[in-house]
Amino acid sequence: MDYSWALDFLKTLEKASITTELKKKELVTLLAADPNDSKLLFNLADRVRAQYMSNAVHLRGIIEISNYCRQNCHYCGLRCDNKKLGRYRLSYEEIYKTAEEAVNIGYKTLVLQAGEDNHYSPLEIALLIKAIKKLDVAITLSLGEHDYETYGLWREAGADRYLLKHETADPVLYQKIRPGKTLEERLKCQTWLKELGYQLGSGCMVGLPGQTLDTLAQDLLLLKKMAVEMAGIGPFIPHPDTPLAASKGGSLEMTLKMVALARIIMPLVHLPSTTALGTIHPQGRELALQGGANVVMPNVSPSQYRELYQIYPNKICVKDEPEHCKSCITGKILALGRTIGTDYGHSPKLQGGY
Ligand code: SF4
Repeated sequence: MDYSWALDFLKTLEKASITTELKKKELVTLLAADPNDSKLLFNLADRVRAQYMSNAVHLRGIIEISNYCRQNCHYCGLRCDNKKLGRYRLSYEEIYKTAEEAVNIGYKTLVLQAGEDNHYSPLEIALLIKAIKKLDVAITLSLGEHDYETYGLWREAGADRYLLKHETADPVLYQKIRPGKTLEERLKCQTWLKELGYQLGSGCMVGLPGQTLDTLAQDLLLLKKMAVEMAGIGPFIPHPDTPLAASKGGSLEMTLKMVALARIIMPLVHLPSTTALGTIHPQGRELALQGGANVVMPNVSPSQYRELYQIYPNKICVKDEPEHCKSCITGKILALGRTIGTDYGHSPKLQGGY
């Protein structure tokens, strides 16, 4: 029997245990691990997480403020061509009230998320940020691509973080799945966000049609190159009312390997255990937390709108009230021997760097 592949895997894993500088070829070797060997990778990622990020899991409450979007991404149920989806927008008062309720049940970070919806003016969003900041909470925005001045205004108003995933580091695939958009523009926005002092969240999908181990390794290297503070890595889940409806989607195993490698090469980055992972496997979120992840982002949106925020179908927890959701996920986290973060959960890189 030829053991050369196994030897190469073990040699690369050993290197990963002593350095964060892995080359693309080495990342591909580790991504190619079979399910038995990948356990070694998850264990290493868990050890790195414990060493650099403590035992705490940070909870970020997501408020999905609008499911309108001017873009037409092939993988997303919110795309403007999806006429089957009922659309909604929360009013200023509804968003503020939802934020207040989330803070009252203990959230220290809120994420304001929407499709790219021009309905709200930059100034309206800035006023909202200012009002919510008075509730003593960190704010992450996830509102898509905007110009430098708009990002600057929102930062000035008090937004702490911005989530803008690069989705895929393959520029050709990027243009195929995001018609009319380029990876270059996306990265320009990310550079602006860093310049303005936001903690930057990026990330990618795993299992897009046409993606290879090589492009996944490129995703990891791009996250590192952009010096992100957070990396959201989740499985691609095909939505029935999109051009990618017939695609296979991403696997639990490969997504967990990507999360683990992200932890290994970027020890101080916040890594969410995504709701999408919990959607494709009942233990998905727990497994990611045991393999490098340290953040969970429960939905705190008003329950009547949740089913309509359909980036992908069959999302878990859409019927649960925020309070129930929080105590349910808290129970799962404590059962893993972890604790719940009690502070704002800012990037540890702000206190030192690496
Ligand atoms: S991925 Fe974002 S920008 Fe693209 S259609 Fe969905 S909500 Fe809009």
